[in-house]
Amino acid sequence: MKICVCAKQVPDTNEVRIDPVKGTLIREGVPSILNPDDANALEAALQIKDKHQDTTISVISMGPPQATYMLRECLAMGADEAVLLSDRAFGGADTCATSTTIAAGIRMLGDVDIIFGGRQAIDGDTAQVGPQVAMRLGIPVVTYVQEIVDYTGDKIKVQRQLEDGYELIEVKLPCFLTCVKELNEPRYMSVGSIVDAYKKDIKIYNHEDVKLDPKDCGLNASPTQVFRSFTPPVKGKGEMLQGSNKDMAKELVTKLKEKHLI
Ligand SMILES: Cc1cc2nc3c(=O)[nH]c(=O)nc-3n(C[C@H](O)[C@H](O)[C@H](O)COP(=O)(O)OP(=O)(O)OC[C@H]3O[C@@H](n4cnc5c(N)ncnc54)[C@H](O)[C@@H]3O)c2cc1C
Repeated sequence: MKICVCAKQVPDTNEVRIDPVKGTLIREGVPSILNPDDANALEAALQIKDKHQDTTISVISMGPPQATYMLRECLAMGADEAVLLSDRAFGGADTCATSTTIAAGIRMLGDVDIIFGGRQAIDGDTAQVGPQVAMRLGIPVVTYVQEIVDYTGDKIKVQRQLEDGYELIEVKLPCFLTCVKELNEPRYMSVGSIVDAYKKDIKIYNHEDVKLDPKDCGLNASPTQVFRSFTPPVKGKGEMLQGSNKDMAKELVTKLKEKHLI
């Protein structure tokens, strides 16, 4: 059984703050982390490996050379190999070009049974890359996987999260599954596994390695372009209501009605 996990290094958006005076993002000192949903994706792969010892897990990422730190974290959690797709030609990619490059990288891994990814990356926030990679590889995709119910050789049964319930879906392998945080609790690295992770090589592939022409990746192959990006206005101060509970409740309802919230 061969599993591939798509992992993205992202800025920890919990640490990004807005400068209240300039209204700009404060990026200084913001650490880069493994995208949280991708940690759940890796944990799902590791749990299959715990039960089926003949499993190998490859983690793949597209990003700048510094993404190797995140990939070492994945190795320390228990992945067997890590591949970084890194090339100036991949830069400026929208989700369309990102998925082309990731799919090309996965093809270089040979036959893969399951590809796990996160539902969404906390920086780009589009939730498009997983389904697009699956489409490019011509395999089925199940998004929002919240539980792996059963795995039997050539099929996997999963729960797919909905707003008010779930769907039970059985899907043939090979397939792409995008994971949500409810799926599991990602494990911690051990000191020994961190040391071992630094002994492993991380393969770095450029566009030639994954057989992509520069015109088919990165900005050149991105149908969308970020025209402008800006920081949303800082929210105004809250308003304290005064008076008895009854008066405050009445005023609150009036204000909510004025804003058409109720
Ligand atoms: C014109 C344009 C230019 C851009 N330029 C840049 C740029 O220069 N640099 C930049 O960093 N971003 C750039 N972006 C943003 C970039 O498109 C997205 O970061 C990227 O396509 C992934 O989309 P997402 O973050 O919404 O991921 P989602 O679709 O929300 O991610 C879902 C899942 O897909 C997988 N995944 C997503 N991205 C990767 C990845 N890179 N490697 C491995 N797995 C992944 C993960 O499992 C993730 O959980 C640009 C976007 C546009 C439109």
